[in-house]
Amino acid sequence: MTGEQRHIALVAHDNKKLDLLNWADYNRLTLSHHSLYATGTTGTMLEHELGLHVHKFLSGPVGGDQQIGAKIAEGLIDLLVFFWDPLEPQPHDPDVKALLRIAAVWNIGVACNLASADLMISSPLLAGPYDRVRPDYGDVPDTTELLARAS
Ligand code: PGA
Repeated sequence: MTGEQRHIALVAHDNKKLDLLNWADYNRLTLSHHSLYATGTTGTMLEHELGLHVHKFLSGPVGGDQQIGAKIAEGLIDLLVFFWDPLEPQPHDPDVKALLRIAAVWNIGVACNLASADLMISSPLLAGPYDRVRPDYGDVPDTTELLARAS
């Protein structure tokens, strides 16, 4: 496959991890063309399941959600696949909310369930000539400088 290499972050709450693993396994080939990031436990399981490198952050409840949020703010993440659990309260609910909020702030793709993840992963725009609008909030550092520092 030729085309854009996207930066995809994957996160799943415990009751949703199996769904995400199955989804990622089904889409392994597509995912293999992109850079993958994940919270700690999700990432460890994904690496084991897919045999692909996943850049792992801390576990979600101890800062991983916030670390991914920071990468989104730095302009490093294009798509967040976040299978959050709508039926069980999470101790790190403020972090969950903050992650979803910052994803909206920076206009990245967000898939919160299987159907939206299916639609986004199969979109021709994923690796095609799609340049998402990067909102201009004025007095923020140049993201190209941040990108250079991160590589
Ligand atoms: P985990 O974190 O992948 O480390 O379990 C997920 C979450 O944000 O709850």
